Amino acid sequence: MEKFAYMEKYGYEQLVLFHDKNTGLKAITCIHNTVLGPSLGGTRFWGGYKNEDEAIEDALRLAKGMTYKSAMAGLSLGGGKSVVMGNPEELRKDSIKAEAFWRAFGRFVEGLNGRYITAQDVGTLPQDMVNIHKETKYVAGLPGRSGSPSPYTALGVYKAIKACCDHTYGSDSLSGKTIAVQGIGTVGYALCEFLHKEGANLIVSDAFEANNEKAVKDFKAKRVDLDKIYSVDCDIYAPCALGATINDETIPQLKCKIICGAANNVLKDAAVHGKTIHEKGFVYAPDYVANAGGVINVYYELAEGGYNEADSVRAIENIYDRISEVLRVSKETNSPTFEVADRMAEKRIDAILKTKSIYLRK
Ligand code: NAD
Repeated sequence: MEKFAYMEKYGYEQLVLFHDKNTGLKAITCIHNTVLGPSLGGTRFWGGYKNEDEAIEDALRLAKGMTYKSAMAGLSLGGGKSVVMGNPEELRKDSIKAEAFWRAFGRFVEGLNGRYITAQDVGTLPQDMVNIHKETKYVAGLPGRSGSPSPYTALGVYKAIKACCDHTYGSDSLSGKTIAVQGIGTVGYALCEFLHKEGANLIVSDAFEANNEKAVKDFKAKRVDLDKIYSVDCDIYAPCALGATINDETIPQLKCKIICGAANNVLKDAAVHGKTIHEKGFVYAPDYVANAGGVINVYYELAEGGYNEADSVRAIENIYDRISEVLRVSKETNSPTFEVADRMAEKRIDAILKTKSIYLRK
């Protein structure tokens, strides 16, 4: 679809291409929606895009996802995202080049004058954020402030799993529940810690064998091969590795009752697979509602007076109530949970947009 037609159809505000000849920077920043506040979303640095259109499409898709995630998390933030095309490993070989590259990007972000706030994402490092920060204050997740988002994302997913259990079994206790965790990376490992502490039995599968061994050792987890994780006997499947793992091939294999994890875009095609799992009676916690702990924590770094972890944790724990509400409405209206969450996010954005008709002298 043509860019403007696509932007019009899905309500995008701004799409910016940045180029700096000296450093070779090629960046795309997309601002989807700023009704609730400045757009916030990480900067993805990846060399795998086949062409510019693919990178732009990724930026568009990810920015819209951030609008919905922040809206459902109750944050005063809009949705945005940056995609930088290039080779992270190559750039990191020369620290002076890397500094100049990220400072050039920081200057462009500064030029957006606060309409977009960046943060770390796939392919970017804390040091890259430090270099961006030399040129702009519109960057979050800096070392020494709110820290890594992963433990907070894990906390939110843990609360979401408990809400799903309460809805499904009438109790949110995880004691004795069997949970299949796919991907024992930074979020998956921290999630396993919460689950193990509460007496859950864990089945794990990670592409990196050392991660499996650590989970077996630390949590008495059972390890299964990558393609076996879908068909294990369990109560809950927690995808914490890849997107699109709920698809035509995996749905018939699933023996769980609940699907709730950290991975983004769990449903390969939301309209198709979200509907199928609803019809088959699976309880699905919409990914962007369950995995919002990281963005909530970053948001608290931007608060006046500085970062306060207790406030952030309280807000993350509210994911429990939000998931409960989505599941309740889904049951009452017999609608797939992803649709219920989307409508709730859109309702909040529309309601706040209407308040902007009240004159305020600034
Ligand atoms: P990570 O890279 O630390 O961990 C991912 C893990 O998945 C790795 O250990 C990797 O070996 C494993 N993996 C890769 N392919 C696999 C496969 N086919 N089967 C099993 N394991 C496989 O990433 P993370 O930060 O832990 O994030 C996990 C997921 O959660 C990602 O999808 C990410 O987009 C999403 N997420 C993360 C955050 C956050 O705060 N880090 C926030 C929101 C969403």
